[in-house]
Amino acid sequence: MNAITAAENLNESKRLVGHYINGRSVTVSGERSQAVYNPATGQVVRQVALASKTTAQQAVAAAAAAWPAWRLTAPLKRARIMFRFKEILEQHANEIVSLLTEEHGKVLDDARGEFVRGVEVVEYACGAPELLKGEHSKDVGPGLDSWSEFQPLGVVTGITPFNFPAMVPLWMYPMALICGNTFVLKPSEKDPSTPTRIAELLQEAGLPDGVFNVVHGDKEAVDALLTDPAVQAVSFVGSTPVAEYIYRTGTAHGKRVQALGGAKNHAVVMPDADMDNTVNALMGAAYGSCGERCMAISAVVCVGDAVADEVVNKLALRVSGLKIGPGIDSQNEMGPLISKPHYEKVRGYVDAGVAEGAELVVDGREVTVHHQPEGFFLGGCLFDRVTPDMRIYREEIFGPVLCVLRVQSLQEAMRLIDEHEYGNGTCIFTRDGGSARYFTDNIKVGMVGVNVPLPVPVASHSFGGWKRSLFGDLSAYGPDAIRFYTRRKTISQRWPTDSVDQAQFSFPSN
Ligand code: NAD
Repeated sequence: MNAITAAENLNESKRLVGHYINGRSVTVSGERSQAVYNPATGQVVRQVALASKTTAQQAVAAAAAAWPAWRLTAPLKRARIMFRFKEILEQHANEIVSLLTEEHGKVLDDARGEFVRGVEVVEYACGAPELLKGEHSKDVGPGLDSWSEFQPLGVVTGITPFNFPAMVPLWMYPMALICGNTFVLKPSEKDPSTPTRIAELLQEAGLPDGVFNVVHGDKEAVDALLTDPAVQAVSFVGSTPVAEYIYRTGTAHGKRVQALGGAKNHAVVMPDADMDNTVNALMGAAYGSCGERCMAISAVVCVGDAVADEVVNKLALRVSGLKIGPGIDSQNEMGPLISKPHYEKVRGYVDAGVAEGAELVVDGREVTVHHQPEGFFLGGCLFDRVTPDMRIYREEIFGPVLCVLRVQSLQEAMRLIDEHEYGNGTCIFTRDGGSARYFTDNIKVGMVGVNVPLPVPVASHSFGGWKRSLFGDLSAYGPDAIRFYTRRKTISQRWPTDSVDQAQFSFPSN
């Protein structure tokens, strides 16, 4: 690792977020870097290193060197590190939550929620000895026992998006590590400080050097990880076009890949729904985190015009009253978008919706935030009478823009959802068990809520969408993670007895 020098020795790296390789912070002289913004002020707060192919390969080499010893570390010992990690994380909660708000923009309470959901995966990973027990069958034939064990893969990598810089990486590596793998994380270059700080805390918990590494970067780093022969598996979360690219490239290079993509999550509102609770739920699910959640509700399908009129009237009042401003001010309900280009993109969708003929009931385009003229703030926007052919309905906007569609029956609502290219999350608001059961049984979506607007599974279940929201077979965290990060091996065993077995030419059977 000659090209890599300790970060603290380099004056120019004072404000540079460096990589984390083999248990230490590293920067590489001459490597590219990129600005990191505080989206609430629009100001550059630091720079992030962008790894070259060589740096990414060095991180993989560090993980490969650490693997033989980590593979043989008892699951209980791996779990003990996770216990300490959880404690250290909780001791640093305020620091992590503030860092998250600074670089992402989401309000502090929301950042805290993200942090807690990430820690829940660490808590689940503490069950390593139980989760990795395997399966055993005695006397499957005369004197013959058989069992399946779940062996680690080796070096695995995770590539993560900007919108959950703490939680989404935590979906991946605690589970991969307790299974006996070593890991290279490539977080989003837009908010890199949180995952880097968490990596340091994991090291403090007693993880051996090289078992967990972080490389920052863009496509160059990702491509290096996707094609490195030592990398056995790739977990990706991000937009659908990149997810598809990762899936195709990774599998073409012989790797196991799970690639979670984008979404357009529908909420169906039935005439018998509790309207006040429904509107409250929709507000949080559509405008929380400025709509930058893969489980955000971005389309409300109202069954009947009377339902639509009531929902739109109630929502309009609430959306125009949203408290918008920097996430560090706990009075605020919604912070800024992540970047200027993303702000322009979301605003462009609002313009397109108007041009396409949707009715813009609340227009957040001209919102101003006191003292923050450079921040990437967009007000909440609400469209009524959106139709399925419009771009604002077909495409993922990933901003504070909610589209209301009007249909006449539950079947019509479900047809809309099923025909959409994405199938991440959905929800039905109703008081009728029969409608809810029909909906949950038949809808072609991976995660479904009944009066639960953001049905994000808890850590002991698994997270994953259907259709073009997930490429691959296994979802993130929970039981699927044990399967994804291990390889099944089945052993059949018989010990010699005093009798001599005859050669047997028929296929073995009982
Ligand atoms: P993105 O796809 O732009 O980036 C995700 C990661 O891929 C980043 O680490 C980025 O550096 C890398 N990347 C970007 N372009 C690449 C390229 N051409 N080649 C190789 N790597 C590339 O996503 P984002 O904007 O950071 O995040 C928002 C998206 O993530 C939304 O579409 C959202 O729905 C999705 N998301 C999905 C889930 C889920 O669980 N399904 C969860 C969170 C976010």
